[in-house]
Amino acid sequence: MAPLGDNVVVTKIKLEKMLSMKGGKGEASYVNNSQAQAQHARSMLHLLKETLDLVQLNSPEIPFVVADLGCSCGSNTIYMIDVIIKHITKRYEATDYEQPPEFSAFFSDLPSNDFNTLFQLLPPYGGGSMEECLASDSHRSYFAAGVPGSFYRRLFPAKSVDVFYSAFSLHWLSQVPDIVLDKRSTAYNKGRIFIHGANESTATAYKKQFQGDLAGFLRSRSKEMKRGGSMFLVCLGRTSLDPTDQGGAGLLFGTHFQDAWDDLVQEGLITSEKRDNFNIPVYAPSLHDFKEVVEADGSFIINKLDVFRGGSPLVVNQPDDAAEIGRALANSCRSVSGVLVDAHIGDQLSEELFDRVAHRASSQAKELLEQLQFFHIVASLSLA
Ligand code: SAH
Repeated sequence: MAPLGDNVVVTKIKLEKMLSMKGGKGEASYVNNSQAQAQHARSMLHLLKETLDLVQLNSPEIPFVVADLGCSCGSNTIYMIDVIIKHITKRYEATDYEQPPEFSAFFSDLPSNDFNTLFQLLPPYGGGSMEECLASDSHRSYFAAGVPGSFYRRLFPAKSVDVFYSAFSLHWLSQVPDIVLDKRSTAYNKGRIFIHGANESTATAYKKQFQGDLAGFLRSRSKEMKRGGSMFLVCLGRTSLDPTDQGGAGLLFGTHFQDAWDDLVQEGLITSEKRDNFNIPVYAPSLHDFKEVVEADGSFIINKLDVFRGGSPLVVNQPDDAAEIGRALANSCRSVSGVLVDAHIGDQLSEELFDRVAHRASSQAKELLEQLQFFHIVASLSLA
Protein backbone atom coordinates (compact mmCIF):
# COMPACT_ATOMS: atom_id res chain seq x y z
CA MET A 1 0.00 0.00 0.00
CA ALA A 2 1.32 3.48 -0.79
CA PRO A 3 2.38 5.71 2.12
CA LEU A 4 -0.13 8.35 3.02
CA GLY A 5 2.53 11.04 2.82
CA ASP A 6 2.19 13.94 5.19
CA ASN A 7 -1.54 13.98 5.16
CA VAL A 8 -1.61 11.84 8.21
CA VAL A 9 -4.76 12.72 10.07
CA VAL A 10 -6.54 9.41 9.76
CA THR A 11 -10.22 10.19 9.88
CA LYS A 12 -12.95 7.75 10.80
CA ILE A 13 -13.73 6.90 7.20
CA LYS A 14 -10.07 6.49 6.27
CA LEU A 15 -9.42 4.15 9.15
CA GLU A 16 -12.53 2.11 8.35
CA LYS A 17 -11.34 1.77 4.80
CA MET A 18 -7.89 0.51 5.61
CA LEU A 19 -7.93 -1.19 9.01
CA SER A 20 -7.64 -4.93 8.92
CA MET A 21 -5.60 -7.67 10.45
CA LYS A 22 -2.85 -8.92 8.18
CA GLY A 23 -4.52 -11.09 5.55
CA GLY A 24 -3.17 -14.06 3.62
CA LYS A 25 -1.31 -16.96 5.20
CA GLY A 26 2.24 -15.55 5.64
CA GLU A 27 4.42 -15.54 8.79
CA ALA A 28 2.95 -12.28 10.13
CA SER A 29 -0.64 -12.99 8.98
CA TYR A 30 -3.53 -12.98 11.43
CA VAL A 31 -4.30 -16.59 10.47
CA ASN A 32 -0.87 -17.58 11.76
CA ASN A 33 -0.84 -15.29 14.78
CA SER A 34 -4.20 -15.81 16.40
CA GLN A 35 -3.62 -18.99 18.38
CA ALA A 36 -3.52 -16.98 21.59
CA GLN A 37 -6.92 -15.45 20.82
CA ALA A 38 -8.19 -18.98 20.11
CA GLN A 39 -6.94 -20.18 23.49
CA HIS A 40 -8.36 -17.17 25.31
CA ALA A 41 -11.74 -17.57 23.60
CA ARG A 42 -11.85 -21.25 24.54
CA SER A 43 -11.18 -20.47 28.16
CA MET A 44 -14.41 -18.45 28.10
CA LEU A 45 -16.63 -21.04 26.41
CA HIS A 46 -18.54 -21.75 29.61
CA LEU A 47 -19.43 -18.05 29.88
CA LEU A 48 -20.52 -17.96 26.25
CA LYS A 49 -22.73 -21.01 26.82
CA GLU A 50 -24.32 -19.35 29.85
CA THR A 51 -25.25 -16.44 27.60
CA LEU A 52 -26.63 -18.79 24.93
CA ASP A 53 -28.81 -20.45 27.56
CA LEU A 54 -30.53 -17.10 28.10
CA VAL A 55 -31.54 -16.65 24.45
CA GLN A 56 -35.22 -17.09 23.79
CA LEU A 57 -35.94 -19.92 21.33
CA ASN A 58 -38.54 -19.01 18.73
CA SER A 59 -40.57 -21.38 16.60
CA PRO A 60 -38.21 -23.41 14.38
CA GLU A 61 -39.98 -22.15 11.28
CA ILE A 62 -38.09 -18.89 11.82
CA PRO A 63 -34.38 -19.07 10.96
CA PHE A 64 -32.02 -18.57 13.91
CA VAL A 65 -29.50 -15.83 13.18
CA VAL A 66 -26.00 -15.48 14.61
CA ALA A 67 -23.52 -12.72 13.79
CA ASP A 68 -19.82 -12.47 14.61
CA LEU A 69 -18.70 -8.84 14.62
CA GLY A 70 -15.01 -8.29 13.93
CA CYS A 71 -14.66 -11.87 12.69
CA SER A 72 -11.30 -11.26 10.93
CA CYS A 73 -9.91 -13.84 8.54
CA GLY A 74 -8.72 -16.67 10.79
CA SER A 75 -10.41 -19.89 11.74
CA ASN A 76 -11.34 -18.64 15.24
CA THR A 77 -14.60 -17.22 13.99
CA ILE A 78 -15.56 -20.48 12.27
CA TYR A 79 -14.85 -22.41 15.44
CA MET A 80 -16.96 -20.06 17.57
CA ILE A 81 -19.91 -19.96 15.16
CA ASP A 82 -19.83 -23.75 15.19
CA VAL A 83 -19.88 -23.82 19.00
CA ILE A 84 -22.81 -21.38 19.09
CA ILE A 85 -24.90 -23.26 16.54
CA LYS A 86 -24.22 -26.66 18.11
CA HIS A 87 -25.24 -25.32 21.52
CA ILE A 88 -28.45 -23.78 20.27
CA THR A 89 -29.26 -26.96 18.30
CA LYS A 90 -28.89 -28.96 21.52
CA ARG A 91 -31.25 -26.58 23.27
CA TYR A 92 -33.84 -27.06 20.53
CA GLU A 93 -33.42 -30.83 20.75
CA ALA A 94 -34.27 -30.65 24.44
CA THR A 95 -37.62 -28.96 23.66
CA ASP A 96 -40.85 -30.35 22.20
CA TYR A 97 -40.06 -28.87 18.82
CA GLU A 98 -39.61 -31.57 16.21
CA GLN A 99 -36.49 -30.17 14.70
CA PRO A 100 -34.14 -27.22 15.08
CA PRO A 101 -34.53 -24.19 12.82
CA GLU A 102 -32.31 -23.37 9.88
CA PHE A 103 -29.31 -21.28 10.90
CA SER A 104 -27.88 -18.19 9.31
CA ALA A 105 -24.36 -17.06 10.25
CA PHE A 106 -23.09 -13.62 9.36
CA PHE A 107 -19.35 -13.02 9.36
CA SER A 108 -18.89 -9.28 9.70
CA ASP A 109 -15.81 -7.09 9.59
CA LEU A 110 -14.50 -3.95 7.91
CA PRO A 111 -14.47 -4.11 4.09
CA SER A 112 -10.68 -4.46 3.91
CA ASN A 113 -10.82 -7.71 5.89
CA ASP A 114 -9.51 -10.68 3.93
CA PHE A 115 -12.93 -12.31 3.47
CA ASN A 116 -11.51 -14.52 0.70
CA THR A 117 -9.14 -16.29 3.09
CA LEU A 118 -11.98 -16.63 5.57
CA PHE A 119 -14.45 -18.06 3.06
CA GLN A 120 -11.88 -20.60 1.91
CA LEU A 121 -11.59 -21.87 5.49
CA LEU A 122 -15.33 -22.48 5.77
CA PRO A 123 -16.43 -26.08 5.77
CA PRO A 124 -16.87 -28.11 3.61
CA TYR A 125 -13.96 -26.55 1.67
CA GLY A 126 -11.71 -25.56 4.58
CA GLY A 127 -9.93 -27.67 7.13
CA GLY A 128 -6.36 -28.71 7.54
CA SER A 129 -5.97 -25.66 9.79
CA MET A 130 -5.00 -25.65 13.42
CA GLU A 131 -8.58 -25.97 14.51
CA GLU A 132 -9.41 -29.57 15.24
CA CYS A 133 -13.08 -28.85 15.00
CA LEU A 134 -12.78 -28.08 11.36
CA ALA A 135 -10.84 -31.22 10.71
CA SER A 136 -13.27 -33.39 12.63
CA ASP A 137 -16.26 -32.89 10.36
CA SER A 138 -16.46 -30.89 7.22
CA HIS A 139 -20.21 -30.47 7.34
CA ARG A 140 -21.62 -26.94 7.60
CA SER A 141 -24.98 -26.66 9.30
CA TYR A 142 -25.67 -23.02 8.49
CA PHE A 143 -26.00 -20.55 5.65
CA ALA A 144 -22.94 -18.30 5.66
CA ALA A 145 -22.62 -14.72 4.49
CA GLY A 146 -20.07 -11.93 4.85
CA VAL A 147 -21.19 -8.49 6.00
CA PRO A 148 -18.74 -5.65 5.33
CA GLY A 149 -19.04 -2.52 7.49
CA SER A 150 -18.21 -0.91 10.80
CA PHE A 151 -19.87 -2.36 13.87
CA TYR A 152 -20.07 1.15 15.25
CA ARG A 153 -23.00 1.67 12.91
CA ARG A 154 -25.99 -0.31 11.66
CA LEU A 155 -25.15 -3.54 9.82
CA PHE A 156 -28.40 -5.54 9.89
CA PRO A 157 -32.14 -4.93 9.52
CA ALA A 158 -34.11 -4.16 12.66
CA LYS A 159 -34.97 -7.10 14.94
CA SER A 160 -33.22 -9.66 12.76
CA VAL A 161 -30.41 -11.19 14.88
CA ASP A 162 -30.73 -13.65 17.79
CA VAL A 163 -27.10 -13.78 18.95
CA PHE A 164 -24.27 -11.32 18.54
CA TYR A 165 -20.76 -12.50 19.29
CA SER A 166 -17.70 -10.25 19.17
CA ALA A 167 -14.22 -11.19 20.36
CA PHE A 168 -11.04 -9.15 20.62
CA SER A 169 -12.41 -6.36 18.43
CA LEU A 170 -14.14 -3.67 20.47
CA HIS A 171 -10.86 -2.23 21.75
CA TRP A 172 -10.24 -1.01 18.17
CA LEU A 173 -11.40 2.59 18.05
CA SER A 174 -13.20 3.95 15.01
CA GLN A 175 -10.38 6.50 14.75
CA VAL A 176 -7.49 8.08 16.60
CA PRO A 177 -9.11 11.15 18.18
CA ASP A 178 -8.35 14.19 15.97
CA ILE A 179 -6.95 16.23 18.86
CA VAL A 180 -4.36 13.53 19.61
CA LEU A 181 -2.85 14.30 16.20
CA ASP A 182 -3.29 18.06 16.46
CA LYS A 183 -0.01 19.81 17.34
CA ARG A 184 -1.87 22.77 18.85
CA SER A 185 -3.78 20.62 21.29
CA THR A 186 -2.69 19.66 24.79
CA ALA A 187 -3.82 16.14 23.82
CA TYR A 188 -1.14 15.96 21.07
CA ASN A 189 0.64 12.72 21.79
CA LYS A 190 4.15 14.02 21.22
CA GLY A 191 6.88 11.40 21.18
CA ARG A 192 4.47 8.48 21.46
CA ILE A 193 2.58 6.14 19.21
CA PHE A 194 0.14 4.83 21.84
CA ILE A 195 -1.79 6.07 24.84
CA HIS A 196 0.33 4.00 27.25
CA GLY A 197 2.35 6.46 29.37
CA ALA A 198 0.77 9.45 27.61
CA ASN A 199 -0.40 12.64 29.32
CA GLU A 200 -3.82 13.08 30.88
CA SER A 201 -5.40 15.04 28.01
CA THR A 202 -4.39 12.38 25.51
CA ALA A 203 -5.80 9.70 27.78
CA THR A 204 -9.07 11.57 28.21
CA ALA A 205 -9.41 11.94 24.44
CA TYR A 206 -8.87 8.20 23.90
CA LYS A 207 -11.32 7.32 26.65
CA LYS A 208 -13.97 9.64 25.19
CA GLN A 209 -13.45 8.09 21.78
CA PHE A 210 -13.84 4.57 23.19
CA GLN A 211 -16.98 5.43 25.10
CA GLY A 212 -18.54 7.26 22.14
CA ASP A 213 -17.75 4.32 19.86
CA LEU A 214 -19.13 1.75 22.29
CA ALA A 215 -22.30 3.82 22.64
CA GLY A 216 -22.73 3.69 18.83
CA PHE A 217 -22.17 -0.08 18.90
CA LEU A 218 -24.82 -0.65 21.57
CA ARG A 219 -27.33 1.69 19.93
CA SER A 220 -27.02 -0.19 16.64
CA ARG A 221 -27.21 -3.65 18.21
CA SER A 222 -30.22 -2.76 20.33
CA LYS A 223 -32.12 -2.05 17.12
CA GLU A 224 -30.88 -5.12 15.27
CA MET A 225 -31.41 -7.71 17.99
CA LYS A 226 -34.56 -9.82 18.05
CA ARG A 227 -36.60 -9.68 21.22
CA GLY A 228 -35.18 -12.33 23.55
CA GLY A 229 -31.74 -12.12 21.92
CA SER A 230 -28.39 -11.85 23.69
CA MET A 231 -24.83 -10.90 23.00
CA PHE A 232 -21.45 -11.98 24.21
CA LEU A 233 -18.61 -9.48 23.96
CA VAL A 234 -14.94 -9.87 24.78
CA CYS A 235 -12.34 -7.17 24.30
CA LEU A 236 -8.97 -6.20 25.69
CA GLY A 237 -9.34 -4.60 29.10
CA ARG A 238 -7.18 -3.33 31.91
CA THR A 239 -7.23 -3.68 35.66
CA SER A 240 -5.78 -0.26 36.41
CA LEU A 241 -8.11 2.70 36.82
CA ASP A 242 -5.56 4.89 35.06
CA PRO A 243 -6.04 4.78 31.25
CA THR A 244 -2.38 5.59 30.63
CA ASP A 245 -1.56 2.20 32.14
CA GLN A 246 -2.86 -0.02 29.35
CA GLY A 247 -1.63 -3.28 30.89
CA GLY A 248 -0.84 -5.99 28.29
CA ALA A 249 -1.77 -3.71 25.40
CA GLY A 250 0.67 -1.20 26.86
CA LEU A 251 3.47 -3.75 26.79
CA LEU A 252 2.61 -4.82 23.25
CA PHE A 253 2.39 -1.34 21.73
CA GLY A 254 4.07 0.92 24.27
CA THR A 255 7.52 -0.57 24.92
CA HIS A 256 9.56 -2.34 22.20
CA PHE A 257 7.25 -1.12 19.46
CA GLN A 258 7.59 2.44 20.74
CA ASP A 259 11.39 2.08 21.02
CA ALA A 260 11.59 0.74 17.47
CA TRP A 261 9.80 3.86 16.19
CA ASP A 262 12.28 5.96 18.16
CA ASP A 263 15.13 3.99 16.51
CA LEU A 264 13.84 4.96 13.07
CA VAL A 265 13.76 8.60 14.15
CA GLN A 266 17.25 8.51 15.67
CA GLU A 267 18.67 6.82 12.59
CA GLY A 268 17.17 9.58 10.44
CA LEU A 269 14.88 7.17 8.56
CA ILE A 270 11.75 9.12 9.52
CA THR A 271 11.15 12.50 11.14
CA SER A 272 9.93 12.71 14.71
CA GLU A 273 6.78 14.34 13.37
CA LYS A 274 6.11 11.33 11.17
CA ARG A 275 6.33 9.13 14.25
CA ASP A 276 4.14 11.42 16.33
CA ASN A 277 1.50 11.34 13.64
CA PHE A 278 1.16 7.59 13.98
CA ASN A 279 -1.03 6.42 16.84
CA ILE A 280 -2.45 2.98 17.48
CA PRO A 281 -6.26 3.28 17.58
CA VAL A 282 -6.65 0.87 20.46
CA TYR A 283 -8.04 1.48 23.94
CA ALA A 284 -8.15 -1.21 26.62
CA PRO A 285 -11.02 -0.05 28.87
CA SER A 286 -11.44 -0.62 32.59
CA LEU A 287 -14.60 -2.32 33.78
CA HIS A 288 -15.83 1.07 34.89
CA ASP A 289 -15.24 2.67 31.45
CA PHE A 290 -17.28 -0.11 29.85
CA LYS A 291 -20.06 -0.27 32.42
CA GLU A 292 -20.74 3.47 32.29
CA VAL A 293 -21.62 3.19 28.61
CA VAL A 294 -23.85 0.12 28.95
CA GLU A 295 -25.73 1.77 31.80
CA ALA A 296 -26.10 5.09 30.02
CA ASP A 297 -27.43 3.32 26.93
CA GLY A 298 -30.00 1.46 29.00
CA SER A 299 -31.17 -0.96 26.29
CA PHE A 300 -29.46 -4.01 27.76
CA ILE A 301 -29.65 -6.03 30.94
CA ILE A 302 -26.19 -6.93 32.21
CA ASN A 303 -26.05 -10.70 32.80
CA LYS A 304 -22.33 -10.57 33.38
CA LEU A 305 -19.68 -7.89 33.16
CA ASP A 306 -16.27 -8.76 34.44
CA VAL A 307 -12.58 -8.54 33.79
CA PHE A 308 -10.61 -11.79 33.36
CA ARG A 309 -6.96 -12.64 33.01
CA GLY A 310 -6.59 -13.89 29.45
CA GLY A 311 -2.94 -14.91 29.32
CA SER A 312 -0.10 -14.08 26.98
CA PRO A 313 -0.42 -13.31 23.27
CA LEU A 314 2.93 -15.02 22.73
CA VAL A 315 2.66 -18.62 21.64
CA VAL A 316 6.18 -20.06 21.32
CA ASN A 317 7.60 -23.56 20.88
CA GLN A 318 10.80 -22.90 22.80
CA PRO A 319 10.44 -20.57 25.75
CA ASP A 320 14.25 -20.46 26.13
CA ASP A 321 14.81 -19.23 22.60
CA ALA A 322 15.09 -15.45 22.90
CA ALA A 323 15.11 -14.96 19.13
CA GLU A 324 11.87 -16.91 18.76
CA ILE A 325 10.23 -14.82 21.47
CA GLY A 326 11.43 -11.62 19.79
CA ARG A 327 9.96 -12.77 16.48
CA ALA A 328 6.73 -13.85 18.16
CA LEU A 329 6.27 -10.39 19.67
CA ALA A 330 7.07 -8.67 16.37
CA ASN A 331 4.68 -10.98 14.47
CA SER A 332 1.95 -10.52 17.06
CA CYS A 333 2.30 -6.79 16.81
CA ARG A 334 2.55 -6.84 13.03
CA SER A 335 -0.42 -9.13 12.45
CA VAL A 336 -2.71 -6.55 14.07
CA SER A 337 -1.01 -3.21 13.33
CA GLY A 338 1.07 -3.98 10.22
CA VAL A 339 -1.53 -2.78 7.75
CA LEU A 340 -1.66 0.63 9.45
CA VAL A 341 2.13 0.85 9.73
CA ASP A 342 2.60 -0.04 6.03
CA ALA A 343 0.13 2.67 5.10
CA HIS A 344 1.96 5.23 7.22
CA ILE A 345 5.62 4.62 6.35
CA GLY A 346 5.54 2.20 3.42
CA ASP A 347 6.42 -1.48 3.24
CA GLN A 348 10.19 -1.14 3.36
CA LEU A 349 10.40 1.01 6.48
CA SER A 350 7.73 -1.14 8.03
CA GLU A 351 10.00 -4.15 7.50
CA GLU A 352 12.84 -2.23 9.22
CA LEU A 353 10.57 -1.27 12.07
CA PHE A 354 9.38 -4.78 12.86
CA ASP A 355 12.95 -6.13 12.57
CA ARG A 356 13.87 -3.70 15.31
CA VAL A 357 10.86 -4.73 17.39
CA ALA A 358 12.00 -8.37 17.13
CA HIS A 359 15.59 -7.47 17.98
CA ARG A 360 14.67 -5.31 20.97
CA ALA A 361 12.14 -7.84 22.24
CA SER A 362 14.63 -10.70 22.05
CA SER A 363 16.96 -8.84 24.41
CA GLN A 364 14.17 -8.83 27.04
CA ALA A 365 12.68 -12.19 26.15
CA LYS A 366 12.46 -13.60 29.66
CA GLU A 367 10.75 -10.51 31.06
CA LEU A 368 8.32 -10.46 28.16
CA LEU A 369 7.25 -14.03 28.69
CA GLU A 370 6.70 -13.33 32.38
CA GLN A 371 5.06 -9.95 32.12
CA LEU A 372 3.05 -9.84 28.90
CA GLN A 373 -0.42 -10.77 30.09
CA PHE A 374 -3.70 -9.68 28.59
CA PHE A 375 -6.81 -8.97 30.59
CA HIS A 376 -10.21 -9.08 28.94
CA ILE A 377 -13.52 -7.44 29.58
CA VAL A 378 -16.28 -10.00 29.15
CA ALA A 379 -19.84 -8.80 28.78
CA SER A 380 -22.98 -10.87 28.50
CA LEU A 381 -25.94 -8.62 27.65
CA SER A 382 -29.59 -9.29 26.87
CA LEU A 383 -32.14 -6.92 25.44
CA ALA A 384 -33.98 -5.23 28.30
N1 SAH B 1 -12.76 -12.15 16.42
C1 SAH B 1 -11.53 -12.61 15.81
C2 SAH B 1 -10.68 -11.49 15.32
C3 SAH B 1 -10.23 -10.41 16.23
S1 SAH B 1 -9.14 -9.27 15.42
C4 SAH B 1 -10.83 -13.57 16.74
O1 SAH B 1 -11.37 -13.87 17.79
O2 SAH B 1 -9.76 -14.06 16.42
C5 SAH B 1 -10.09 -7.78 15.48
C6 SAH B 1 -10.99 -7.60 14.29
O3 SAH B 1 -11.84 -6.47 14.52
C7 SAH B 1 -10.22 -7.26 13.01
O4 SAH B 1 -10.51 -8.16 12.00
C8 SAH B 1 -10.66 -5.84 12.66
O5 SAH B 1 -10.71 -5.59 11.27
C9 SAH B 1 -12.04 -5.80 13.30
N2 SAH B 1 -12.53 -4.44 13.52
C10 SAH B 1 -11.87 -3.41 14.10
N3 SAH B 1 -12.65 -2.31 14.10
C11 SAH B 1 -13.82 -2.67 13.51
C12 SAH B 1 -15.02 -1.96 13.21
N4 SAH B 1 -15.18 -0.68 13.52
N5 SAH B 1 -16.03 -2.64 12.61
C13 SAH B 1 -15.89 -3.96 12.30
N6 SAH B 1 -14.77 -4.67 12.55
C14 SAH B 1 -13.75 -4.04 13.15
